[in-house]
Amino acid sequence: MAMEYSALYRQSIDDPRSYWLEQSKRIHWFTPFDEVLQDTDPRSPQWFAGGTTNICYNAVDRHAMGSSPFQPAIIWESAETNQRHVYTYTDLYVHVNRVASALRRQGIGKGDRVVIYMPMVPEALFAMLACARLGAVHSVVFGGFSAESLAQRIDDSNAKLVICADGGLRKGKLVRLKRIVDRAMELLHVASPRVLVFDRGIAGWSAVEGRDLSWAAQMAESDDETVDPVPVASGDPSYILYTSGTTGRPKGVVRDTGGYMVMLAATMEQIYGAGPGDVFWAASDIGWVVGHSYIVYAPLLVGATTVLYEGTPDYPTADIWWRLIEREKVNVMFTAPTAMRLLAKHPVEMVRSHDLSSLRHLFLAGEPLDETTYEWARETLQKPVIDHYWQTESGAPMLTNFMGTVATQPFKPGSPTFPAMGWDLDVVGAQGEVVAPGVKGILRARLPLPPGSLTTIWGDHARFVSAYFKQDEKGRWYYDCGDFAEKDADGYFWVLGRSDEVINVAGHRLGTREIEEVLAEHPNVAEAAVIGVADELKGQAIVAFVVPRKGVADTTQLESELQGRIRESIGAIATPRQLSVVRSLPKTRSGKVLRRVLKALSEGRATGDLSTIEDPSTVENIRDILAERRSFADGPRSANVHPAGRTHLREPIDTN
Ligand code: AMP
Repeated sequence: MAMEYSALYRQSIDDPRSYWLEQSKRIHWFTPFDEVLQDTDPRSPQWFAGGTTNICYNAVDRHAMGSSPFQPAIIWESAETNQRHVYTYTDLYVHVNRVASALRRQGIGKGDRVVIYMPMVPEALFAMLACARLGAVHSVVFGGFSAESLAQRIDDSNAKLVICADGGLRKGKLVRLKRIVDRAMELLHVASPRVLVFDRGIAGWSAVEGRDLSWAAQMAESDDETVDPVPVASGDPSYILYTSGTTGRPKGVVRDTGGYMVMLAATMEQIYGAGPGDVFWAASDIGWVVGHSYIVYAPLLVGATTVLYEGTPDYPTADIWWRLIEREKVNVMFTAPTAMRLLAKHPVEMVRSHDLSSLRHLFLAGEPLDETTYEWARETLQKPVIDHYWQTESGAPMLTNFMGTVATQPFKPGSPTFPAMGWDLDVVGAQGEVVAPGVKGILRARLPLPPGSLTTIWGDHARFVSAYFKQDEKGRWYYDCGDFAEKDADGYFWVLGRSDEVINVAGHRLGTREIEEVLAEHPNVAEAAVIGVADELKGQAIVAFVVPRKGVADTTQLESELQGRIRESIGAIATPRQLSVVRSLPKTRSGKVLRRVLKALSEGRATGDLSTIEDPSTVENIRDILAERRSFADGPRSANVHPAGRTHLREPIDTN
C-alpha cells in the first residue's frame, strides 16, 4: 500500500535529518557520512558531509556486478538514422570503463572539467558516466547551441577536454557539430582544450593536428581496460549545467554528488513509480536538466532501463513516439507539454492504433501545462497524466503528484499539485511575507534546500547568493524560485509563469537579456527589447523590438542580419518569431522599458494604463507596425517575408 503523503512530507520538512537518513540507504557509500545535514549557513547546506561515493559506481557497477548484469540499461533508438541498439548493464560497464581509461590517458582526473557537445547517442552517456567514474566534472552543452554559446561555456568552466561527435541530425537536417567546435575554439579566451571526436560517419570533418583525437583510435587503445571508480566527497560537484538567468551571462549550475543521487533514487520510487527492470523514457535531451536527471542518472541508479531517443516527436511520422512505446514496452514516460501540443494536432488514430498497455503514466514538466493539452493527453492515452514543476536548479521535482510508493493525490488539472519531499514551498508577497490562499505572489522555498539542489554557480559564489536568495520580513533567508504562483485553499499550487526576465520557449529557458545583448551589439542597433508572448504550440515565443541607429535605411536587411546573429550567438532555439524595427521603445519617464506594454501590443491585448509612459506616440507606432505585419502574414504571400514596417519609419529616427 502506498504511503500517506502528508505524514511523510511533514517528516521531510520537520525532521529532515531522520527523513534523509532513511533515503540515503538507497545508494552505496564508500565511506559513511558523519552527519546527514550541516547547515551552519542555510544557503549552503552540506548534505551527507564526510561521506564518499561515486555516481558511476552506483549507476553501473552495482547492477553489472550485482543481480542484473544482462538487463538492458540503455535502449537507443534513432529516428534520424533508423538505428536501434540495446546495451545491457555489462555492456555499459565495458564501454564506460573504456572511455574512462581513454580520458585518464588524457590526464583527466578528479575535479577536471570536460565539455560534452554531442547528440543523443549512447557514446554521450558513456562519456558522462566516464567523467563521473573519474570524479571529473562534466558540462554537457545542448547540441543546438552555437559556437559562441559553446565557447562561452568552455571558457567559463575552463574545460580541459571537449568531447563531440562529427554531427547530429534534426528532422533529417545535418548539424555539423565538429565544425561548430572548431569555430568555438577560435573564440576561446582560455587555453584550447583537446577535442575527442566521435565519428558517426554522417558529417565530414578534418582533424586539427596536435589537438584533435579520434574516439575510435582512443577506444581501441583502451580496449579491455578498467578504471576503479574514484571516491568523491558527497559535496563534490558532479556536473555543471548552464542555464539562463536574468543577466546575459548563463549561470553554471553546480550539482553535488551524494545528495543528488539520494534525491534521484527517492523520486524514482516515490514519484515516478519506476524501479529495477522498468522501461523509463524521458523524451528530452541530455543537454537539459531532465536529460541529466531522468535520461541518464536516475533510471540507471535504480536499475531501470532508460530509453535514449534521437529524434523529434513527429519525424518521420507523427506516430513515431507511440510506435516506440509499443515496441520497447515503455512503462513510464516523461516529456514536455509542447511535445503533446504538437502530437495533439494529429488524428487520435495515430495514438489509438498502437498498443500502449505497457505505459502506466505520463509525466509532463518544463512549462505550464494548459488544461486542453492535459485533457487531450489523458483522454487519448487513457492514462494518468501528471504535471510536475521543477527547474535546472532543483535537479528533481519541486511540485508534483505521486505515482509510486507515495499515495496519489486527487488531481486538479492545471495544478502541479503539492510540494515534493523536502521542498518547503510557499507563496510570498514583496516583503517575503506568506500571502493568503488564492493570492498571487512569488514561489519561494524555505532553507535549507533539499539534497540534489544546486550548491553554487560555477566560479561565482557571490552571484549564486545574490541571484537566488532573499530575506523575509523577519530577516530569514529563502530561495526565490523566480516564478509567480498561487496556492489554493486546499494547498494546491498553481504556477503562473516567470517573475523575472526569463522566458520559456517549448520548455527551454532563455534569458531576454542574453538575446537583447546580441541584438544591441549590432552597430546599426541603438536599443533592443525582447519579450515572451503567448504561443499556442510552444507556450511562449520570442518577440524582439529593435530601434535602429540614426540614418539606417534598410531595415529589412537589418532584420535578417539580426536573426542571423542570434542564431550564431545563441542558437536556433533563440530565433525570434517576430523581430520588428521600431522608432522607439515605450518607456517610463525614468527610462525603464515598459515590457508589459510591448507584451500586450504583441498579443493584441489592451495596453492598460499608459500614464507612466514618456511618449505615448511610441505605442501607436508599434501598434501600426504590428498590425501591418499581421495583415501581411494573413495575406497570400509567405509569412516569412514581411515589409518590416518601413512605411512607419519615414520620419527621422532620433534615438542617440
Ligand atoms: P528549466 O530550468 O529550464 O527546467 O526551467 C525551469 C522553469 O520552467 C521554471 O522556473 C518554470 O518557470 C518553468 N516550469 C517548469 N515546469 C513547470 C510546470 N510544470 N508548470 C509551470 N512552469 C514550469
